[in-house]
Amino acid sequence: MSATVSCAVLYQSYRQVERSAIEHSTNIARIAQRSILRNVELLTLGLDSLAWRYQHTQLHEMPLQQKMEFLLGEKIEARYVAALGIVDAQGKLVAGSTALSQILPGPYAQSDFFTAHHAQGNTSLYISAPVTVRLERRMQVVVLSKRLAQPDGSFAGVGLMVLYLDYFRDLFQGLTLENDGVISLYSAEGLAYMRIPYNEAFIGSRLNISQDLERVFAQSGPAQGSYFTRAQQDGPRWLYTFVRIPGTSWIVFIGRNETHIFREWYNMLYAVLFLMASFCIASVYLIGRVRTELQRRIALDQQLEEQARTDKLTNLLNRRALDEALARAWKRAEDNPDVIFSVLFVDVDFFKLYNDTYGHKAGDYALMAVARCIVGAVSRLADQPGRYGGEEFVVLLNGTDTVGAVHVAKRIIGAIQGLKIPHERSPFGILTVSIGVTSLLREHHNSMEEVVKDADAALYRAKQDGRNKFSL
Ligand code: GH3
Ligand code: MG
Ligand code: MG
Repeated sequence: MSATVSCAVLYQSYRQVERSAIEHSTNIARIAQRSILRNVELLTLGLDSLAWRYQHTQLHEMPLQQKMEFLLGEKIEARYVAALGIVDAQGKLVAGSTALSQILPGPYAQSDFFTAHHAQGNTSLYISAPVTVRLERRMQVVVLSKRLAQPDGSFAGVGLMVLYLDYFRDLFQGLTLENDGVISLYSAEGLAYMRIPYNEAFIGSRLNISQDLERVFAQSGPAQGSYFTRAQQDGPRWLYTFVRIPGTSWIVFIGRNETHIFREWYNMLYAVLFLMASFCIASVYLIGRVRTELQRRIALDQQLEEQARTDKLTNLLNRRALDEALARAWKRAEDNPDVIFSVLFVDVDFFKLYNDTYGHKAGDYALMAVARCIVGAVSRLADQPGRYGGEEFVVLLNGTDTVGAVHVAKRIIGAIQGLKIPHERSPFGILTVSIGVTSLLREHHNSMEEVVKDADAALYRAKQDGRNKFSL
């Protein structure tokens, strides 16, 4: 029960940790998304204003110098904009900031942004693939462009703006993630624009969009989401959370190693498992101890019970136990008309004289020897010999008729004779016993007392008949 509750609580807390990790990653991705979105809007505004100026009716009447100033004079206040320019409908550079010819020397007619706006008629913001340029240092840029139109709407060229990819690098580096967390920016085609930890070679590489990722990269894919994946087959799982940048094909990814996410949870799990294991070991130990103690007590009780039922001198049933056994036999006979039993009343002959001659102690030994003979003479488990009192014994023979009882009586007499215990004051010269034999007679006996009384009477007859014999 407690193990089930623990498992449920652990599972709930695992899900809670997972939920907070997704929430945390989504928040970071949303911060990046908002910043990129704001900048893209700003740059789009810049491009729109460039297009508006280019389409100004008086532009063609202006002398070249004035034309340039009119077009490019208003600097866009964006630190990461490397250059801007205008390409006409034939792909010829009409106007461009000084850096443009160094960064993007042309020709432009074949470039992806020109083709997109011209041949494919793309009127929205176009984002080129990452471009690596070599000026005073290697740098990576991306070209943002918009279609320019004549007053009649026909294609008039392309307005373009070059953005350093460092913008994304600085933005991502400013976002807090754990040591081995990853932030990356991909296009919907799987083209990599940035990745933190930064690796120059990674930029411009194309992601192999596996079947699992198709849903994420699909044009109509969800605006945001998260999933677990493995970088290598047997490596740790990673939690990836993604958020799309509206108006662009960019998707921001936040990757976090599962090991980090669940580190605290696993620590808690190990602590709980340790406690549960300790509890189990302690319980097993205690249960073992209690069991041993219980067994010891039961054995002790049995021993005491045994002692309470045993005659100390002869080890036979004592009078109390004998009476109980007789009562049980009577009850069985009452319950079942087929039940039979016999009773032997055994009495040592001339025992007073034996005691007087050999002493009380020798008398005790003699009684012990007689008891052993009785035990040796009864063979069935159901036979119950007991000490009736003094030098008298009663043997209850369950399931035994008179023939069987006589047989046992003879065996007892023979066994005691066989001991040849000297008794100089007995006419036999040895210790002997006399036995009264009685079997249950249903038409005659009304109680066990009557059966025993009959056995005693039979014994009396054996005594009268000269002793050292049995009588019915
Ligand atoms: P009988 O042949 O007619 O049975 O004569 P008896 O002497 O055996 O019978 P009686 O009843 O006169 O004497 C029984 C004697 O048994 C009396 C007593 O001294 C002796 N006795 C009874 N219990 C014990 C006992 O536990 N130990 C010893 N040593 N003697 C006992
Ligand atoms: Mg007697
Ligand atoms: Mg006697």
